[in-house]
Amino acid sequence: MADICSVCNKEVQGGFEVYERTLKDGTPMVVIDGTPDRNFNVCDLCNETVCFECSEEPESGYCNRCLHKVSVAVEE
Ligand SMILES: [Zn+2]
Ligand SMILES: [Zn+2]
Repeated sequence: MADICSVCNKEVQGGFEVYERTLKDGTPMVVIDGTPDRNFNVCDLCNETVCFECSEEPESGYCNRCLHKVSVAVEE
């Protein structure tokens, strides 16, 4: 089932790929990467799904609410 943007309630595209890599010293590492067609973020703080169109700053990886919280904390 596709995820739904929590702001506009439209279905979002793409997703995340999770793959495991083994470092040279044998340590297993889980890598999470967005697929190239992904048009949404899952907020790092509250796990809300927000498409890039509704996101004030898609680069940040936060939903708009948390983006404001975080930017207030940074400005202090
Ligand atoms: Zn949206
Ligand atoms: Zn959030």
